[in-house]
Amino acid sequence: MEKIFDKKHKDFAEKISKNIGLEEWYDWKWQLKNSIRDIDTFEEVIGIKFHEDEKAELQEAADVFPLSITPYYASLIDVKNFREDPIFKQSFVGVEELITENFEMADPLAEDKDSPVPGLTHRYPDRILFYISHACAVYCRHCTRKRKVGDTDSIPSKKQIEKGLDYIRNNPQIRDVLLSGGDPLLLPDDYLDWILTELWSIPHIEVIRIGTRVPVVLPYRITDELVNMLKKHHPLWINTHFNHIKEITKSSKNALRKLADVGIPLGNQSVLLRGVNDCPNVIKKLNQKLAANRVRPYYLFQCDLSEGLSHFRTSVRKGVEIIESLIGHTSGFAVPRYVVDAPGGGGKIPVMPNYVISWGTDRVILRNYEGVITTYKEPEHQDDCSKDCTGCERGLAEEGEEHDLVGIEKLLFNSADDTISLVPQGTERIDKRDNNG
Ligand SMILES: *Cc1c(COP(=O)(O)O)cnc(C)c1O
Ligand code: SF4
Repeated sequence: MEKIFDKKHKDFAEKISKNIGLEEWYDWKWQLKNSIRDIDTFEEVIGIKFHEDEKAELQEAADVFPLSITPYYASLIDVKNFREDPIFKQSFVGVEELITENFEMADPLAEDKDSPVPGLTHRYPDRILFYISHACAVYCRHCTRKRKVGDTDSIPSKKQIEKGLDYIRNNPQIRDVLLSGGDPLLLPDDYLDWILTELWSIPHIEVIRIGTRVPVVLPYRITDELVNMLKKHHPLWINTHFNHIKEITKSSKNALRKLADVGIPLGNQSVLLRGVNDCPNVIKKLNQKLAANRVRPYYLFQCDLSEGLSHFRTSVRKGVEIIESLIGHTSGFAVPRYVVDAPGGGGKIPVMPNYVISWGTDRVILRNYEGVITTYKEPEHQDDCSKDCTGCERGLAEEGEEHDLVGIEKLLFNSADDTISLVPQGTERIDKRDNNG
């Protein structure tokens, strides 16, 4: 094992537990057992003291939204300047969490409404979100599912998981399963092995993904035993959640290397957080560093409208400004897609700077990142598509395969579907028509 147990780790570890050695620090179960779960321990370990009044308020917030930080993640906090520290802000309770704005919601993405069976959200046609764990290594202060965090750290029973598996088995349009939670990598190896084996026994599953923050907050969980188990379950993708360059350490790099070495494609989902990473330079450097560690930046999320997150939220302008500073300026594969997850449950909506300046009969006018304005001459011939793939020379159609049109597609294609407009329900004008009807 790489010798990364430096003096700082040792001093830090000894405050938590006397005479601890290398093996304990590297043991993910030790890290979890010794996680900082109250303000007193935090003060002691970090070596700070909050003012009495502030402490009382912090305690009030912690009673609503519990606290849990692994010793490893806490050891990354810059003690001298802890209030400004991105690790501190993401993991230690803040009094602002008690503020609830009137537009904030407990379940802003309506994940519970789009849940056909408990523990599963089915929103998109061909893929689902499957919550297989209640536990998290660190409780992120910016968590969308904040209200649920710490509810129960128990493992969902096999019976509960079976219900989700049955739903997937009975819905052949599902080809992609995204395992989430909680953190799926906090499950015991053999339990996760069982879930993955069950999923792969379903013939229509083409891909499985795991969403986990373990490489960031508990990198020692990525053991040789774990990766040897995971590699039996290809094609398996992992998306992790780095938000700041400070989180890229020797330990986290080591965890990423182990996952990549067994052939797992790695992605990253960041959340745009005020005072943490709401800066083009921070996001650029983070994503360049991730790419250098074989992690492909996937999404940059606008902060959701969950309760108690107002202090973290930025404007959407800030996100667009950041993407403007990335596209063209750095490697294409180091640029995540900036998305707003639609309040009410519409799913992820990409938001981009505008690159199309104008459009003529046979040409499109575009601009690049430097401000160059260019014209692209389009072909005169147009290949009309009805989206009825039978008989199409492109050779996609398989016998009996159907391609239903969804949303804007209905307006785009000349098909048997003769929709000419998509009209929201409940407008006065439409109600009047119905009444006349
Ligand atoms: C994000 C998400 C997915 C996966 O979406 P991709 O864009 O394919 O990564 C699936 N289901 C739900 C409910 C989601 O929120
Ligand atoms: S670019 Fe602006 S926000 Fe980013 S580090 Fe520099 S001063 Fe701060």
